[in-house]
Amino acid sequence: MSTEKKVIQEFVLEQDNELRFEVESKNEKVYLTLKSGLAEVFGTELVKAKTYEFTSGAKVAVFTWHGCVIEVKGKTDVIYTAKETPMVIYSNCHAALELMRMEAEKDNKRGPIAMLVGPCDVGKSTVTKILLNYAVRMTRRPIFVDLDVGQGHISIPGTIGALMIERPASIDEGFSQEAPLVYNFGHKAPEPNTSLYQIVVSQLANTVKERLEVNKKTRSSGVIINTGGWIKGSGYRQLLDSAKAFEVDVIMVLDQERLYNELVRDMPQFVKIIFLPKSGGVVERSKSIRSESRDQRIREYFYGTPKNSLYPHSFEVKFPEVKIYKVGAPALPDSCLPLGMKADDHMTKLVLLTPNAGLLHHILAVSFSENEEDIISSHVAGFVCVSMIDNERQTITLLSPQPKPLPNNILVLSELQFMDTH
Ligand code: ADP
Repeated sequence: MSTEKKVIQEFVLEQDNELRFEVESKNEKVYLTLKSGLAEVFGTELVKAKTYEFTSGAKVAVFTWHGCVIEVKGKTDVIYTAKETPMVIYSNCHAALELMRMEAEKDNKRGPIAMLVGPCDVGKSTVTKILLNYAVRMTRRPIFVDLDVGQGHISIPGTIGALMIERPASIDEGFSQEAPLVYNFGHKAPEPNTSLYQIVVSQLANTVKERLEVNKKTRSSGVIINTGGWIKGSGYRQLLDSAKAFEVDVIMVLDQERLYNELVRDMPQFVKIIFLPKSGGVVERSKSIRSESRDQRIREYFYGTPKNSLYPHSFEVKFPEVKIYKVGAPALPDSCLPLGMKADDHMTKLVLLTPNAGLLHHILAVSFSENEEDIISSHVAGFVCVSMIDNERQTITLLSPQPKPLPNNILVLSELQFMDTH
């Protein structure tokens, strides 16, 4: 039994103040309770006297519009109160989007399609979450789109997706994951295959636009799109293409004036470009922390969170029972290409793989497509992980959230790997 006493600290926050803390040490737990007043974490209101639990890796800001008293129990690595925050500016953005939604509702038109852009670690995902939470607290039903393949806020890393938001994010578990629409890209950054990235983004955009057509409430609520931090060179052109595919009305640029000016120059006039300052609280993440949090996301996909454990299944499939594809074939020199084929077409070519040891620990997307032609443009049913390949018995052992049988025998290889240490 630990003899160490839990540290209990009380913080009295004035209006517009923010209490920021980080939990870094492994196996450490920090408990947060709102004693009095009103407060929110990234747009989700805290319930008075309820205790919230945060584990290693958490970087949290408790903001109050009116003043409050907060109790924090447990060992935090950093904890301080900030008096300067950009929350009023973020809240003004929400108010502007809300006006657009009211107009849209009146005329039965499409509400604002807003996109958050900026370099890495400026708070894009956090502002996206704040704006979605504020919208849903006003009884809107916006669609959250995540184009950031690096972290995967909707599904696992290496994917993009959309989720209809029906209630505020839970403080410790995020947005509830009911029926997300997920497309597999298979890399943790768009660079390795920009042709494929563009195809899946356009496909997602079309499906999201269809959903806006069929649901009146969602149509007027609009869409909020989070993007990755690749904004230079072809990353910038990629952003322009994504903005075009979703037919955005508003682009919010976090922290980078150069990007803001480029977008003002290159986007059509009817698209509003807004510059937003970054919060001083946003924490920079090193490469290793990013990679750890990717691992954590995949682990959570299979095993759930401490509060909500999941029990994945492990089963064997015989080699002929599944068809495993890889997207992108080795490049051929121009002179060897068939007539009319472009050099980068090979990046979206499907290659049927013979199961081999190279697949070990890789994530495979379970496609919804019924034939080879539709694989790239189909969204996915879910993911499995290859935990063993037995060449002699011709079997693959898969870790899967669902028991056998697989919903489809078409599987697509992802570059992402997961070492199951359970
Ligand atoms: P981006 O999407 O631009 O890469 P994030 O929104 O993911 O950035 O923010 C990076 C990290 O900073 C996240 O862990 C987030 O929880 C944390 N963070 C964001 N805003 C604040 C804040 N005001 N105070 C403390 N931590 C914050």
